[in-house]
Amino acid sequence: MPVDTELYDLLGVSPNASEDEIKKAYRKKAKEHHPVQNRDDPGAAARFQEMAAAYEILSQPETKGMYDQFGMEGLSGGRGGGMDPNDIFQMFGGFSFGFDSGPGGFGSARRKKGQDSVIPYEVTLEDLYNGKSVKMNLEKDALCSVCSGSGAKGNAKPKKCVKCEGKGWTFVHSQVGRNQIGTSRAMCTECDGQGEKLREKDRCKKCKGSRTVKEKTRQELSIERGMANQQRIILAGAGDEEPGIPPGDVVFVLKQTPHDSFQRSGNDLLTAVHITLSEALFGFSRILVTHLDGRGIHVSSPPGKIIKPGESIVAKGEGMPVYKHPDTRGDLYIVFRIDMPGEEWLNTVDRAQLEALLPPKRVDVEPRPAVVDEAQFELSDIADARGRAFPTSSDFFDHGDEDEWEDDDDDDDDDEPECRTQ
Ligand SMILES: [Zn+2]
Ligand SMILES: [Zn+2]
Repeated sequence: MPVDTELYDLLGVSPNASEDEIKKAYRKKAKEHHPVQNRDDPGAAARFQEMAAAYEILSQPETKGMYDQFGMEGLSGGRGGGMDPNDIFQMFGGFSFGFDSGPGGFGSARRKKGQDSVIPYEVTLEDLYNGKSVKMNLEKDALCSVCSGSGAKGNAKPKKCVKCEGKGWTFVHSQVGRNQIGTSRAMCTECDGQGEKLREKDRCKKCKGSRTVKEKTRQELSIERGMANQQRIILAGAGDEEPGIPPGDVVFVLKQTPHDSFQRSGNDLLTAVHITLSEALFGFSRILVTHLDGRGIHVSSPPGKIIKPGESIVAKGEGMPVYKHPDTRGDLYIVFRIDMPGEEWLNTVDRAQLEALLPPKRVDVEPRPAVVDEAQFELSDIADARGRAFPTSSDFFDHGDEDEWEDDDDDDDDDEPECRTQ
């Protein structure tokens, strides 16, 4: 009586079963539990593998003898190998073989559909605002039309693989230590784990037995208004075809290129507009922004309002269209940059008169410091000084990161997109 009957139990036979009975039992079980027949049962593949492994051991006198005498321990590299005898299938280490090895064999038996094709697609902010439809040519694996995906010529049938006797894998014994034999399995190289193989002369002429051919297809990609950067557009079933399973999908991933004038945050937009000193003081009524759809956005400032540097306004409902609800839109934030007049201008006016009109200059601080040194007036590049002299964690010059402007009233960062000239 064997010390362990688990493998016999798996095949549903008695430990006294003959070679022939074991073989018959395995064939019946394998058919019943084959993953292709049990696609909706996630455990089927694992059970199938366990039975195949059990049969592999019990069908060979050498390994059967070791199992009967010592149990799984006897097959794990000698007695007392330190392995848990209950953990029988872990010992074989190689049980995951083939299942992730790509097309064919056990791999395709487990996969529920063909490979998805993931394609990055560059879009502009205008595309996401206005929507866009793009037609393009793609190449995919399609089932061969000549052999309907069988890979065979006419009615030729694949022959059972001689090397693995139709199992798709072979049992490999190797020396793992002194007087110890390790046992592992490897996918059959002769049939790539299929268990059967078409003879050269039986292969379909068009696909040469590979069952699929490259095919050009024309696809239409619909970029809807309000879609987001990184959003995925899935063309279901437009991907690669494989025999016996539904085709994969084509998945486009939108990648928005940076915009010269606008930044997007959710459904809101941010832009910066330069106004003159005169406009800041006395107001304006003009087209401030050309929008992403080419419309001019006209704004009149309220009478008597002085616009200070970095101040912002919000144009409600002038942001991005909301995805799937394009009639609803976010808001457009406009940050003001005030252009000071140049020296040439100063030379054309009566300075004394202008100075008298403007608010008075400041006088020295009170109380006056006991020691006062004179420093040179030297123009500097603040961005340069910031990079060189201040640690990156310093927020001395920072007024909020440009990526965090959302919900931030303090919008006067220095890195907003360039203003458009208009
Ligand atoms: Zn084979
Ligand atoms: Zn073919």
